[in-house]
Amino acid sequence: MRRIPVKLFLMAAAVLLLAGGCGRGGFDEDRKEFNWPVMGTYANLNVFRPKADEALLITKSAFEEVNTELSVFAPESGVARLNASAGNGEYVQLGRYAVKVLRESGRYYEESGGAFNPAVGPLVEAWGFFRGGGAGYFPPDASVIAKTKPLCDFREVELKDDGIARLPRAGMRLDFGAIAKGYAVDVAYERLKAAGYSNFLVNLGGNMRCAGTRDAEDGAWRVAVRNPRKELEGEPLGMLMLTNGMSVATSGDYEQHYEYDGRRYSHIIDPRTGESARGVAQVTVVARAAMEADALSTACFVLGAEASRGLLETHPGSGALFIMVDDAGGFEFEMVGGFADWFEPEMDGFGNAQ
Ligand code: ADP
Ligand code: MG
Repeated sequence: MRRIPVKLFLMAAAVLLLAGGCGRGGFDEDRKEFNWPVMGTYANLNVFRPKADEALLITKSAFEEVNTELSVFAPESGVARLNASAGNGEYVQLGRYAVKVLRESGRYYEESGGAFNPAVGPLVEAWGFFRGGGAGYFPPDASVIAKTKPLCDFREVELKDDGIARLPRAGMRLDFGAIAKGYAVDVAYERLKAAGYSNFLVNLGGNMRCAGTRDAEDGAWRVAVRNPRKELEGEPLGMLMLTNGMSVATSGDYEQHYEYDGRRYSHIIDPRTGESARGVAQVTVVARAAMEADALSTACFVLGAEASRGLLETHPGSGALFIMVDDAGGFEFEMVGGFADWFEPEMDGFGNAQ
């Protein structure tokens, strides 16, 4: 593991991943970029002509189909119906995408020792982060956490072979916010590949997966990891160079959060304690598929850099960049696993580093 200690005294600002770099290769005048809003966030597709418009339709319908099964906001989705019937004894038929994501979630739950847990819904709500909560909220007291935690036991979620599922206790609620966008990207990726597209990059709210190469010359798709201290257009922390199916996802404490009594509370909950996770300001994970990167980024956010090492080791082709934050607001950067192999730091961006 490489360790780059950089102490920063600043307010944690938004950090985003941007599909970056203007083309130098011969393909680029043939490259088309689409941006559109979807699933409460933004989406982006980079693809080569001809047939770029067709690729957009394929991507949109993949996102739509996954969302229709997994969204907790669409009342008719399988997952919303499952949540609504928690504790009433009935089983709910899930679609194949929801079954897949639920099964994979079980794997990440076990691998992460419960740090990744989509049954955390009631705690997310108790902390004020359901349906866009945030500003104006304050931490729940210990008795609320103690009462809510037993409703978040992922092992109690029942899933049968034919795809019917049940939440045995009233008040249980699944929330796939930490994995569904990555999965939707994988579904779009597979469909585009099957339709014959070989060079593209799909991005759903910072969950990205690339196919092939960006252009004929240097090959890699370049993804900027933004410097938290700079404006969106400012110097990035560095560039990720991704090719051939590689994916990236980021979890941060800057998206949904609130401050109370001088402390920042983020929308990622440590299901083991019931507390809002702390110690990490941002983690960017590279992995071989977008669902993997998405789930790992949330697990790593909860676990922190040290405890994430073993988890990342069990995922070949993965690596992470952690921005750890201490109670005084000082930052420290750590790269774990293979991250450094794909990352070109531009640490000049840390002009005020101490
Ligand atoms: P983003 O919201 O930027 O996609 P994540 O992929 O990390 O970030 O997902 C965070 C969302 O996942 C939260 O909004 C919440 O719905 C849910 N969540 C919170 N804590 C956990 C956890 N420990 N395990 C699984 N899901 C979680
Ligand atoms: Mg995630």
